[in-house]
Amino acid sequence: VLVLGIETSCDDTGAAVVTTDGRILGEAIASQAELLGQWGGVVPKLASEEHRKFIDKVIADALHNAGVQESDLSAVAVTIGPGLSLCLHIGVRKARIIAKNHRLPLIGVHHMEAHALVARLTEKQVEFPFLVLLVSGGHNLLLLAESVGQYVQLGTTVDDAIGEAYDKTARLLGLDMRKGGGPALEELAREGDPKAIKFSVPMRGPKYLDCNFSYAGLKNQVRMAIESRNINGDQVPLSVASAEERKIRADIAASFQRVAVQHLEDKCRRAIEWARKLAPSLSSLVVSGGVASNQTVRGKLGALASELDLQLVCPPPRLCTDNGVMVAWAGVEHFRLGMYEEPPDADEPDDVRLDLRPRWQLGDIYEEGQSEAR
Ligand code: ATP
Ligand code: FE
Repeated sequence: VLVLGIETSCDDTGAAVVTTDGRILGEAIASQAELLGQWGGVVPKLASEEHRKFIDKVIADALHNAGVQESDLSAVAVTIGPGLSLCLHIGVRKARIIAKNHRLPLIGVHHMEAHALVARLTEKQVEFPFLVLLVSGGHNLLLLAESVGQYVQLGTTVDDAIGEAYDKTARLLGLDMRKGGGPALEELAREGDPKAIKFSVPMRGPKYLDCNFSYAGLKNQVRMAIESRNINGDQVPLSVASAEERKIRADIAASFQRVAVQHLEDKCRRAIEWARKLAPSLSSLVVSGGVASNQTVRGKLGALASELDLQLVCPPPRLCTDNGVMVAWAGVEHFRLGMYEEPPDADEPDDVRLDLRPRWQLGDIYEEGQSEAR
């Protein structure tokens, strides 16, 4: 059984063909990193035009790499949210056309569920229930995954996500944004002293007893540290900074990273406690999303997991960032359980029942104390 997955929720156009027993037959991706570097962020209209330009080729490449044709497919899965409507629309429309032409079931996928479930593709021993930390440019979520389609949200960010803080800091430090701010900052941090600057860890103290995150304050602390040292990344990119200034920037990068990751560790520690009340058999901590490819994140959370008797599971970096494979796999997980939409009728226009969900929360929010009531 073959499922085609299509992802266009943000700035990557991805497609893949995955089998129900978890083999990735073919995948393809077109990334807009260049555009991002140029504009300093995602511009919905431009991103949507890029998706429109690449979608056919990306799907054709994924099918070609898999050695299959549209008519060999068993179902089509596509991200329907959360994300930018203009962008989601491109993928969903294509998915509907393919499903209609070949009378295939359609599976509308939640982007964050796909990020979470892909861990079960790469590590077969990840069983429900498991705890997930999703860390990317737009999300900072702690979820208890109870089963396919069933999640409890333990925490989220009250302002920015950690990836956004990485990107912002990287830009202020004049790093090359073409490969993404996160990877560039991680690289520079290796040259720095993580204890050089004392940034304070967000949300510590008796007032904060939840599993939520906040990165806006840290972002601000870093901006002030950069300004007070007269660093102007805009005018002086790192590549032309003096050795002395490079060291200062590296110290800032390393100090930021230490505190940013410490905040993740603090909240994961508490979330494990909460999750164990709801699900005593918990055995895995899954970390996914773009920031999960960071080595310091993996190292710190790996140590926490082993201290608390959990196995840490991080998908390989290419499956941590947005991709078609995770959508195809989320499709497989739903398809196996009969969770899909009947094929569109042959006379149905391609644009009807698009059913986009640009804002879509995954699961119910956990309130402490609820565990006793359950
Ligand atoms: P969404 O939140 O909707 O999933 P996104 O496009 O931000 O959107 P991803 O592609 O999963 O999602 O993640 C990109 C983010 O991950 C960027 O903020 C990027 O800087 C960050 N990132 C990628 N690699 C690293 C790394 N090695 N260290 C730190 N951050 C990283
Ligand atoms: Fe994503």
